[in-house]
Amino acid sequence: MPILARVAVRSVERLSPSFARIELVGDDLADFGTDGPTLDQRIKLLFPAASGVLPELFADDWYTEWLALPDEERPRMRTYTIRSIAGEASSGEHSEKRLYVDFVLHPGAHGPGSDWAVAAGPGDEIMVVGPKLGEEYGGIEWLPGDATRLLLVGDETAVPALVSIIESLPADATGSAFLEVPVAGDVQDVSAPEGLKVSWLPRDGAPVGGPALAAVGGLLGFDATPEDVTSVEVEDPDLWETPIYSSSGEEVAALENGPVKAADDGEDGRYAWIAGESRMVTALRRHLVNELEMPRKQVAFMGYWREGVSMKG
Ligand SMILES: Cc1cc2nc3c(=O)[nH]c(=O)nc-3n(C[C@H](O)[C@H](O)[C@H](O)COP(=O)(O)OP(=O)(O)OC[C@H]3O[C@@H](n4cnc5c(N)ncnc54)[C@H](O)[C@@H]3O)c2cc1C
Repeated sequence: MPILARVAVRSVERLSPSFARIELVGDDLADFGTDGPTLDQRIKLLFPAASGVLPELFADDWYTEWLALPDEERPRMRTYTIRSIAGEASSGEHSEKRLYVDFVLHPGAHGPGSDWAVAAGPGDEIMVVGPKLGEEYGGIEWLPGDATRLLLVGDETAVPALVSIIESLPADATGSAFLEVPVAGDVQDVSAPEGLKVSWLPRDGAPVGGPALAAVGGLLGFDATPEDVTSVEVEDPDLWETPIYSSSGEEVAALENGPVKAADDGEDGRYAWIAGESRMVTALRRHLVNELEMPRKQVAFMGYWREGVSMKG
């Protein structure tokens, strides 16, 4: 069963022009968390609807209860990543646990998640649905198996996941990480293994996903300019393809052996994790899978958001 926690803002730290780190606290967080590193662990955040009031929901059936609420009372739901968790678990007692979420602020395009984060201040309440310590939950897609040659690509919405993943890598990991952000002021410090080349790509007005597409092209030897991303048509609005799941209904039975295991199946130990705006992810999928014939079980492609489209919920 997930944890459904009512949480309040304790602090807001403006990290950079496009990011705010929000510290969330609440007694319901006592058993919240993952048993290992949080990696790209996704969570759902529920923001108060027009009424401004958060309803009573119960963890075992929260989704059905949430769906049944009238529109003006139903909190708006969006997906975010655990940036980190601090503090001790203290089941049943007052929890000192703190949950940190890094919000991308996009005040030019209104949405309940970004609008809430822009205005958030101490005491403001939202709800979180996420993993409970000691219980299966899902929501971590970083599954590199034994692969040690890595390709990590993401835009600002994937920066919280990418930084967590990079900081958890073993010392012998090698490869490249490309993190596209709106402006140079959004670059963060990240401690990475020596063999992983981390490249921050400030967009500075280029099309969303364009710099990442061109940079991966430069690395892998396909031709792409940043502008190429603008002509990509997104055929699958729910674009989500991992070694164990395909939103397009693609046959995943062939992948049933799970993520690549370099040592036992003769593969080359490569693994790619790609997340961000859907056009960039779609373009990279075509190049990596169709053109470069990278085996599907060695890549996770995830559309985190769509330019010009509000997420459902
Ligand atoms: C697994 C997963 C993990 C994620 N983790 C994070 C995270 O940790 N932090 C984070 O900030 N986001 C994260 N996202 C992305 C986030 O869910 C989307 O950006 C979402 O659309 C934000 O909701 P909203 O209410 O702000 O905007 P919406 O109501 O969904 O959209 C309203 C408008 O804003 C635009 N928009 C949405 N996001 C952006 C953006 N980033 N930049 C510019 N315009 C935008 C839309 O295109 C639309 O025009 C994650 C998504 C997934 C699937």
